[in-house]
Amino acid sequence: MRGNSFRLLRTAALRPQPRKPACSLPQYGIRWSSSSAERQWSTPLAKSLAKAIETTGPISVAAYMRQCLTSPDGGYYTRQTPGHDQFGAKGDFITSPEISQVFGELVGIWLYTEWLAQGKSDRVQVIEVGPGRGTLLDDVLRTISSFKGFAQSIEAIYLVEASPHLRSQQAKLLSGTEAVLQETDLGWKARSKHIPGCDIHWCEDIRFIPKESSPTPFILAHEFFDALPIHIFRAVPHSHIPASSTTLTPTGPLKPKRGPSSEPSPQWHELLVAPVTASSTTTTTFSTSSTAPPPSAVDDFHLTLSKAPTPHSLYLPRTSARYEALATTPDATIEISPESLSYIADFAVRIGGANPPPSPTPTTPSTTLSSPQAQPPSGCALILDYGPATTIPAATLRGIRSHHATSPFASAGLVDLSADVDFVALAEAALAASPGVEVHGPVQQADFLESLGIGERVAGLVRGKGKSGGKEEEEEMVRRIEGGWKRLVDRGPAGMGRIYKAMAVVPHREGVKGVRRPVGFGGDVV
Ligand code: SAH
Repeated sequence: MRGNSFRLLRTAALRPQPRKPACSLPQYGIRWSSSSAERQWSTPLAKSLAKAIETTGPISVAAYMRQCLTSPDGGYYTRQTPGHDQFGAKGDFITSPEISQVFGELVGIWLYTEWLAQGKSDRVQVIEVGPGRGTLLDDVLRTISSFKGFAQSIEAIYLVEASPHLRSQQAKLLSGTEAVLQETDLGWKARSKHIPGCDIHWCEDIRFIPKESSPTPFILAHEFFDALPIHIFRAVPHSHIPASSTTLTPTGPLKPKRGPSSEPSPQWHELLVAPVTASSTTTTTFSTSSTAPPPSAVDDFHLTLSKAPTPHSLYLPRTSARYEALATTPDATIEISPESLSYIADFAVRIGGANPPPSPTPTTPSTTLSSPQAQPPSGCALILDYGPATTIPAATLRGIRSHHATSPFASAGLVDLSADVDFVALAEAALAASPGVEVHGPVQQADFLESLGIGERVAGLVRGKGKSGGKEEEEEMVRRIEGGWKRLVDRGPAGMGRIYKAMAVVPHREGVKGVRRPVGFGGDVV
């Protein structure tokens, strides 16, 4: 059993929408060096971001998050600081697989139940996006290795990882301490220590993993989506964006959709990131959260409401009726992560095949609604993360450092940034991307783990603990095993069992009577 604390979360996202307007705050203190008139920034990354913004103007929260998390020059996941690890008691946060080995074991069992329910495919690939230290996959593969038929069906394992440093850690754990990573066309590879003869491949984006004639995909995403960049929009019912204003986009100039007059009308404005200046007042996303820290005097950046439309504000808030419904609610705030939507769409297409191309002759009724893929839908994706079950996240961008909530706008690259996952948006995107999938959940993590038998597995571990040593050691081990279990299924207001959710994407089998529910989502082992 491992660790004793968990990744900090805010409960703000669970509150009903719409949110209260963000407040304006007093001026910030800006740091200047004593010896020169040069402004001081908290990190080199903050300085280079500020310099870039001087040229481009304020940037989207998504662009800011992307740089802070995965910039090759000092991003949170991509930098390597000797002696510093993001994960664990001495790091910044701890995740479920790091708390208890039982978590990964149950995820392995879940994959096995899907393999059984879907007819025991003899060609399987396992894909994990954002594997961290590799702990989850290590426990998953160790568990799968005891189901011989399933283990033998695994042809390849793919890991999508942005961080070279975490990639090495994963290779050590999953391949053995002496793991040597070989470069390949895709990225890198090494042998799996759990699945004999099977290679583990690393790449930096899921799009690099071949789709055509691939084995059945079994996909895992644990605390990955919360790390993907978000855009934040605010509804301004009486927007004064002039009718004549244009926005430059990569595909050319765009005019906002509105009437010919310059009368005020409802518009989504994007919240952008700009450096703090002596005269800055800020629009903050923190003002509605009781657990959030107040904006700090050392912030390098702040949020500011765009005065004109941005390419994203013209498009993203129009992509779902859920957003449209809030467009006239003063100061309603919504977070949208297009990168998350393209990841889940990619999962769905791998499992269920792509949508058929639109018919060239709309008057001719379409003869087939099925996807053009050769194989029938097969495989599954399990998404485990935190966020509200039904509402749209708002005001959930957070910084985490040394197990404490901190401002996302100070110490760029030294602070983990994350935002709540919009599960309904993920489900909508999966269903829109493929006619061959269905989505189950989200369900609370506690319900998911309990229906997979976490209580029984923990009792088994406790019974087996006596073999390991003396009485004191034994008591300590029982305490840790049981402590980890309780933490994972804690249904208290800020408990992991309630805040973390599980969602599954599985094949939609036409003609099958009734819906087959996966285990953990109301179904039984088949
Ligand atoms: N699943 C692990 C780690 C979660 S932290 C666990 O639960 O313990 C997020 C992980 O996603 C890290 O491995 C990080 O390096 C990776 N990551 C973050 N953004 C990414 C991106 N844009 N592309 C690929 N990997 C990314």
